[in-house]
Amino acid sequence: MKEEKVNVGTQAVWAGEKEVLVHGASQVPVIVSVAYSYDDMDEWYDVAVGKKQGHIYGRNTNPTVQAFENKVKALEGAEAATSFSTGMAAISNTLYTFLQPGDRIVSIKDTYGGTNKIFIEFLPKMGIEVALCETGNHEAIAKEIEKGCKILYLETPTNPTVKITDIELMAKKGKEVGALVVVDNTFATPINQNPLALGADLVLHSATKFLGGHADALGGVVCGSKELVEQIYHYREINGATLDPWAAYLLLRGMKTLKLRVRQQEKNALAIAKFLEQQELVEGVYYPGLESHVNHDIAKKQMRGFGGMLSFSLKGGMDAVRILLPQLKYANRAANLGAVETTYGPARTTSHVESTPEERAAMGIPEGLVRLSAGIEDTEDLIQDLEQAFAILKDSAVAIGE
Ligand SMILES: *Cc1c(COP(=O)(O)O)cnc(C)c1O
Repeated sequence: MKEEKVNVGTQAVWAGEKEVLVHGASQVPVIVSVAYSYDDMDEWYDVAVGKKQGHIYGRNTNPTVQAFENKVKALEGAEAATSFSTGMAAISNTLYTFLQPGDRIVSIKDTYGGTNKIFIEFLPKMGIEVALCETGNHEAIAKEIEKGCKILYLETPTNPTVKITDIELMAKKGKEVGALVVVDNTFATPINQNPLALGADLVLHSATKFLGGHADALGGVVCGSKELVEQIYHYREINGATLDPWAAYLLLRGMKTLKLRVRQQEKNALAIAKFLEQQELVEGVYYPGLESHVNHDIAKKQMRGFGGMLSFSLKGGMDAVRILLPQLKYANRAANLGAVETTYGPARTTSHVESTPEERAAMGIPEGLVRLSAGIEDTEDLIQDLEQAFAILKDSAVAIGE
């Protein structure tokens, strides 16, 4: 197929599906069969040892799941992709595939809460040294890389403070010491950023978020060279964090509208960020599309759009958050993000629910920080909704803190 030559929005609609279509159907079937039957014992054997294409058992491969992997692979411009039951499974399986006792990993303080838990709780238990750097401080990251590391793990933009790391610059540093460069691209999506093209070895996603886009299916995926992805696939097929075919179908269907959704979400995110910047009750607004963002220039360089994620803090802290959020009519107050519905949630009950207050403080996440995932609603309705909610907050006693 000549999918590489097509634009990303077209790929999101068409890529990866053809091989799975049967009976002239134009839509991918959900194949739920756990195992695959063979009359020819030799053919069965050839498929089992990978000499011939085909499927043996559902923990290993599944046609619907493969269509999903092929679509993401096309969008990330990768040679290969393998999928997982969740985004965390994609992250943990990727790390455990390559790390051994005595190894060293360099990353940033602001990774997703679950990822941070792997870094501070599980990897040290396995005798792996973890160096977590100030996010956005490229010199500090470079210094740690220079000491040597097996993996350089980045996430940009970060969850929930939307900090930016220069992928190209850091990947080059990582390569100099022979590190495997891994990037969590969940927030940017392949519509806005392709880490492999910027020098990363592996790019991974929580497909639960923007890829699926409808908050109705969990999934994860990692893309890269055939050689690397085959090793991760082997770890996953044995350890068993396989993506369910029904979930794969929902993710595939969601991905068809990925570009349309992301474009509307970032239009809404920018409008909301600008609105919040003008509110006197708002303490800080974090969105890479704002010129006031510390790394706006890097974001502009490596992203094709700024995405639908932003966060903000209120002068009244958590007390003000308790008043503001329930007033919003067009908002889910929930732990997910990247959905068609606008979603609000304090970091302490969403991205960093697994962290202790002390750990959140160490990551620079204020207890009153609100993460906002802009949906695809009409922009003016979201702004109006915020206007009425802020009017109520203004009338309350806790609005400006002490
Ligand atoms: C949600 C999320 C994850 C974890 O994904 P799950 O599908 O919830 O396991 C990892 N990284 C980022 C950036 C996320 O937002």
